[in-house]
Amino acid sequence: MDQKMEQARAVLASRFGYDAFRPGQEAVVSALLSGRDVLAVMPTGAGKSVCYQVPAVVMEGMALVVSPLVSLMADQVRAVQEAGIRGAYLNSTLAPGQQAEVLRRAAEGAYDLMYVAPERLADPRFAEFARTARLALIAVDEAHCVSQWGQDFRPSYLSIGQFIAELPVRPPVAALTATATDLVRRDIVRLLGLRDAACTVTGFDRPNLRFAVERREPKQKLARLDAFIDERRAESGIVYCAKRATVEEVCDHLRERGIAATRYHAGLTAEERERNQRAFVNDTAPVMVATNAFGMGIDKSNVSYVVHYNMPGSVEAYYQEAGRAGRDGSPAECLLLWCDGDIATGRFFIEQESTHEGLTAEEAEVVRASRRRMLESMVGYCYTTGCLRAYILRYFGEGGHDEALPSQGGATEVAPYGGAGAGGANLLDGAACAPDSRDGHAACDPTLRRGGSWSALPTEENSASSSAKRCCSNCDGEFEAVDVTAEARAIMRCVQALRGRFGKTTVVDVLRGADTENLRQWGLVNLPVYGTSEARRALLMEVVELLAADGYLAITEGKFPLVGFGPRYREAAEPDFALRIKQTPKVRKGSAAKPPKAARPGAADLGAADAELFERLRALRLLLAQEAAVPPYVIFHDATLAAMAAARPATEEELLALPGVGEKKLATYGKAFLEEIASVPEATEVE
Ligand code: ADP
Repeated sequence: MDQKMEQARAVLASRFGYDAFRPGQEAVVSALLSGRDVLAVMPTGAGKSVCYQVPAVVMEGMALVVSPLVSLMADQVRAVQEAGIRGAYLNSTLAPGQQAEVLRRAAEGAYDLMYVAPERLADPRFAEFARTARLALIAVDEAHCVSQWGQDFRPSYLSIGQFIAELPVRPPVAALTATATDLVRRDIVRLLGLRDAACTVTGFDRPNLRFAVERREPKQKLARLDAFIDERRAESGIVYCAKRATVEEVCDHLRERGIAATRYHAGLTAEERERNQRAFVNDTAPVMVATNAFGMGIDKSNVSYVVHYNMPGSVEAYYQEAGRAGRDGSPAECLLLWCDGDIATGRFFIEQESTHEGLTAEEAEVVRASRRRMLESMVGYCYTTGCLRAYILRYFGEGGHDEALPSQGGATEVAPYGGAGAGGANLLDGAACAPDSRDGHAACDPTLRRGGSWSALPTEENSASSSAKRCCSNCDGEFEAVDVTAEARAIMRCVQALRGRFGKTTVVDVLRGADTENLRQWGLVNLPVYGTSEARRALLMEVVELLAADGYLAITEGKFPLVGFGPRYREAAEPDFALRIKQTPKVRKGSAAKPPKAARPGAADLGAADAELFERLRALRLLLAQEAAVPPYVIFHDATLAAMAAARPATEEELLALPGVGEKKLATYGKAFLEEIASVPEATEVE
């Protein structure tokens, strides 16, 4: 086994140019090499693909990768080929003759790795091939798509389990996902039929991401976005919007301001989506405005900000989308702009959703209830005055629940998880917790940050620039906290008096002593709580939402939502109960929040001449990418170019020592980059 792991490390170094596995990767690779199933839960950007790509090279036979990302498969395969791995893909974009050819070559053992869409597994010709092929392993990417509980359910994923079960020789199966909830993880194990799976959960912290939340009325959002982007004109970023119409509006607006923005949503033709995605990846349109249809599988390493123009439906969706920033470990910003209307839109989406295929009405209602809870957690994130990073980490089971924390110093645990017959205790019990949204700055407290984190760039110079902890707008005090404890207590008393039989408006009307027919008709004007608050109506409404988001109250769904007590209602009666509400300062020209400027990878460490070299290397990469018709990152990531510009390697050995340079890439591109570096004179010290 040790020998196999050594081989795996050698492959990581020679093909990918990386010195070491990240902790989570090591556990997954080692489990697969020993023939064991794995459930790997790692956040976006943690490096899931290496987990199956390295074993694909080390193990006998071909690795089959099931992925929902048909439009990206060609790029994924180009990327592995650039690393010297024999990769192929089989999907509907190939003509029937080409498909037959790929299958024929696969049967001859021509590939280490093959990507297929889940639909392919139901094709009899493919099933026939798989029965006789020698499969090293099966990797199910984005494995949460198998579950109706999650955000991205794909019915075609349901056929994977059966496909695996029918194989005459069952290879180890790796399910990879960034999802958090326990229900989804259990579904993955059950529906894919994982057996005695090693469960690996890496630390979810992304230290190089800085989080910011700002409440902005719809009319203010564009101005805030303008100010934010103006500070980052040279950077690449993504702006997520909840609706297609908003994507259009925001994208048009940015273009009118001279920003090279492009758009992506499900209402565009496949050709336009493909074209726009490519323009973004190739940096000809560095700003992407999109709905959540965009982004899965996009490995663009130099995205330095992700703005959410609306509140997403869950913390998971948020973290997955925001996590597309700073993949290479450079400082990056994640800004969420939200308003009350976003909550209403979120609720509307949940109630309207009709894609609960194959579920009974009762089951569909359970799914909806789960979505509502997820939305409440997201609302809680927007409202919290505590550390945003801590909030997210608690949601993912880190920092708030000791039983779910990996052991001190390690970012990974491997624990048996479910599967056929294995019902024992496991790491995930309680891990997929509802967030504890009590205020706190746990993530800033090093004693609580035991989940460990991965650093994208393990080299000295880069880890130095990315290790500096950048936290969040709350920790940086970018809001005014208003104490609303008195209002909260009044609301709790009122809800008790109304016995959960009325909605938010009535609760607020009673407290403010409104003189309405409705209140008289129900006799509510005689209650002792009637007219006991002088607070503004809007503030009381907000405090009701905050109490609900924190679990002190619960708001029912449907046409006439009723306000009742939530699971934490008793805590609101305790003497130390306190509640604060956030108020975001107005947009000032040039940014309200004044976040530290996001820098391109390594740029902060580069002198003027090195920055020039970095730009020259980027231009060279673009040229080579155009010649080879691949996205630039497939050749080298920005972080690798930054390392080149800083280290100025003069020989092939020196170049090979840099992160992200493997033997194949050295052979293909080494000469061109070394020549370019040699052609730019080194910076001389200027007084
Ligand atoms: P995920 O699929 O988990 O979102 P990816 O597989 O796309 O993440 O990897 C994210 C980035 O991390 C990629 O740029 C990849 O090359 C880089 N990476 C992966 N493994 C390592 C490693 N061991 N050391 C350094 N960088 C790595």
